[in-house]
Amino acid sequence: MVILSDPELVEGESKDLYMLNIHSIETFGTHEGPGIRLVVFLQGCNFRCLYCHNPDTRPLKGGKLMKSEEIIELLKKQKPYFKDNGGLTISGGEALLQRQGLLDLFTKAKKAGFNTCLDTNGSILDETAKKLLEKTDLVLLDVKHIDPIWHQTVTQASNESVLQFAKYLEKNSIPAWLRYVLVPGYTNQKEFLHKWGEYFAKYENIQRVEILPFHTYGFYKYKELGIKNPLQDVPAPTEKEIKEAYNIFKQYFKSVYIR
Ligand code: SF4
Repeated sequence: MVILSDPELVEGESKDLYMLNIHSIETFGTHEGPGIRLVVFLQGCNFRCLYCHNPDTRPLKGGKLMKSEEIIELLKKQKPYFKDNGGLTISGGEALLQRQGLLDLFTKAKKAGFNTCLDTNGSILDETAKKLLEKTDLVLLDVKHIDPIWHQTVTQASNESVLQFAKYLEKNSIPAWLRYVLVPGYTNQKEFLHKWGEYFAKYENIQRVEILPFHTYGFYKYKELGIKNPLQDVPAPTEKEIKEAYNIFKQYFKSVYIR
């Protein structure tokens, strides 16, 4: 797995580490963390998930560069809608590729009183990432497969760093929601759903588990980008398959949601 640093991300466009390379912004997001949120999708990802719904976020270049201050301004405009639990969510692509810029943003967002949420694949845990986690109220962590070989198949990357990341969250009592994309034939093997549940069942920092059923809405993006969609012929899971996964996770976690 190649991990690119911030300077490489913005190479040729800006050397300012505090600029964020942004794919898009959703102003009233309700799916990425609690309450109503400003959701910022960053450009660039180090995974290549077979089921990626946003392949256009994966290239490292091509987004729009923005400063933390510009995002804080957007947050201030939306503040009345956030109520008690809304706030800022950073998603991707993979957010941690731009951890230096995010540290600047989250530090300023916390100072201004905003709730911060980080949606990540958990593949990077260096000192900057750890500092960023100190400024993060909630982590949405995708653990895409518990089996190392299947994880490699599904994401083209190892799950070792992801599990280390999860462990770090647990050790430091950082609240997390775990997310799991359910894909027929790839991530719905019952034995591995049980293993996934067993592995995290004792983690006291996990507030909820979310099952994200695979869907085909993003398929048109592969066509537009002219890239092969490896799951072109894979259907969305049936109600029965979703319910089966839900029932397995419910054996290990109090709060399980289907999104
Ligand atoms: S981590 Fe997310 S953005 Fe990256 S390839 Fe996987 S699904 Fe796509």
